[in-house]
Amino acid sequence: MRVLLVEDDTMIGESLREALRRQGLAADWVRDGRAADAALASERFDAVLLDLGLPQRGGLEVLKALRARGDLTPVIVVTARDALADKVAGLDAGADDYLVKPFELDELLARLRAVERRRAGRTSTVLAVADLTLDPATREVARGSRAVLLSAREFAVLQALMERPGAIVSRAQLEDRLYGWGEELESNAISVYMHQLRRKLGDDVLHTVRGLGYYVGPAKQG
Ligand code: CA
Repeated sequence: MRVLLVEDDTMIGESLREALRRQGLAADWVRDGRAADAALASERFDAVLLDLGLPQRGGLEVLKALRARGDLTPVIVVTARDALADKVAGLDAGADDYLVKPFELDELLARLRAVERRRAGRTSTVLAVADLTLDPATREVARGSRAVLLSAREFAVLQALMERPGAIVSRAQLEDRLYGWGEELESNAISVYMHQLRRKLGDDVLHTVRGLGYYVGPAKQG
């Protein structure tokens, strides 16, 4: 999951970005409304955490412009303002959810999972492909009744594949999901994670299509 963090408070921005990255999410951080506009216009994110009180351009304006472009990227408005009018304005401008500072990281993560689920049109929280299951909430992965322990990055790769069973996901798409701007990226990182995943899960459920990418599910014919 790739998240754009829009926050002008350096302390909050830094600690949130680190916390999200520790969870295996790719988190990019911009500090004002104009930079948010530019990032949202040029790149695809799975969710946006949007502060309302921002320099250059307020969060509400950023949100309205995003929706006016027809962009449905889930947005969680994150702000210190707790006035009812602000909440209503945020939701009316097209926010998917609302968090008032200070908030617990666990609550933010739960809300991120919820907007991701809603966007994918899923009601069940657990992803399943054959006997392989992945629970984004508890971070548990199992093959049948056998629990499998994964690193945060391995989990993120597997989740990206399991959200669209059978669909081929390219190396670049996986890299986008895993890494924020400025994060060091080894050129063979995805291959290494795939190798580890196959070692842990067995090699019958994860497949490589040479030159195209990877998918999870039954092997395609031909
Ligand atoms: Ca602010």
